[in-house]
Amino acid sequence: MKIFNSYTNKLEEFVPIHKGNVNMYVCGPTVYNYIHIGNARPVIFFDTVRNYFEFRNYKVKFVSNFTDVDDKIIAKAIELKQTEKEITDKFISAFLSDVEKVNSSTDYIKPRVTDYMDHIIEYIEILVDKGFAYVVDGDVYFRVANVKDYGILSNRKIDDLLVGARIEINIKKENPLDFTLWKKTDLGIQFDSPFGKGRPGWHTECVAMIDDVFGEQIDIHGGGSGLMFPHHENEIAQSKVLNNHSLAKYWMHNGFINIGESKMSKSEGEVVFVKDLDVNPNGFRLYTLSTHYRSPINYTDEALDVYVKEWEKILRTYSAIFLKLDLNDKLYANAKIEPDLLVIFKEFLTAMDNDFNTANAITALQNLNKKANQLLRSKVEDEVLLSALKLFDDFFIVLGLKTDKKPLSMEDKETYNLWNKARADKDFDSADKYRLLLQEKGII
Ligand SMILES: [Zn+2]
Repeated sequence: MKIFNSYTNKLEEFVPIHKGNVNMYVCGPTVYNYIHIGNARPVIFFDTVRNYFEFRNYKVKFVSNFTDVDDKIIAKAIELKQTEKEITDKFISAFLSDVEKVNSSTDYIKPRVTDYMDHIIEYIEILVDKGFAYVVDGDVYFRVANVKDYGILSNRKIDDLLVGARIEINIKKENPLDFTLWKKTDLGIQFDSPFGKGRPGWHTECVAMIDDVFGEQIDIHGGGSGLMFPHHENEIAQSKVLNNHSLAKYWMHNGFINIGESKMSKSEGEVVFVKDLDVNPNGFRLYTLSTHYRSPINYTDEALDVYVKEWEKILRTYSAIFLKLDLNDKLYANAKIEPDLLVIFKEFLTAMDNDFNTANAITALQNLNKKANQLLRSKVEDEVLLSALKLFDDFFIVLGLKTDKKPLSMEDKETYNLWNKARADKDFDSADKYRLLLQEKGII
């Protein structure tokens, strides 16, 4: 398997730190609002990455945090006259239901900043003790000057960064590039620390939580490309000085979803919230994954609709095969491999092995759909159809596409057979009655 590593800017062979295991962390949301479809992209993509690793028999430890301490949360709490906890609890549960809505797994480790406060403070103390950070008037800053290749992830030069950083004048900092690890606050929720009352900086939260949950360098750190600088750069800087490694062996970044000309962000007007999406989640998932994860998506309703229809086509074929096999009691028979199906399976694996090229994997799924339709029409043995069905199931598992197909009950099979018999006997009244029954149950 190959992964494009943002850290080295190269396509690299994936070699896990511990054989057969994948430890991965994806930056999670700051929970003060509902997520929009741009936020759903990493939720869908990294879930697919996890699915594929598991499909290839890796044991995956998947961690994604909740940033539940932040100025925006404090502002919202003041605005709504609620506690920070009320705000964050509400949006954490809203987030998880959106994750479920787009068919991503909610079964992962979800550290919250507020639960890790002791560890985060301890982490900052170590940085201060070792001279990698300094305290000024209740604030703590990270000393960037100690990091040899600061800017390596985002390919930025210190001099260029300095030009940008000088705009923000902070006389407390030794160097304009130094970033906040602890911020003295007098507004909203505050936490006690040896530096005084305040709250941690975002960049130190993720790295301290990774340190506590994994305790060592991880395989993959993921997130949106907007996080590369300064967030991920600063995570790396802390890990470099303290642990002498780049925190993750592979860094992966997904592109934005644009609406019109602007990238979607919570502060802009033109957002589509996941909670308001009124389309089949499988269609939305196919749409999101039909563009390579490193490329931007220019969202339009029309383009989304194409993939909603694509899913309907695939589901029709899948359902027809499922029903035929079910009625013939062949759902659990031994499948017979058809050479063309094997070719399609290899296409799929090749695509996913090549930096999770889900766009090409979806092409393989469409090829499977065409082939399965041909097989249905050419009346092949049920055992061959079964191998097509199993291939669909494999692709669905990896891409996170869900169907609710279940074998028919005895009663439903009986109805189906009666419908067939009535049609054969040209007993149209009975046939209509049975057809309606079957349609009501979504069987045909
Ligand atoms: Zn993070």
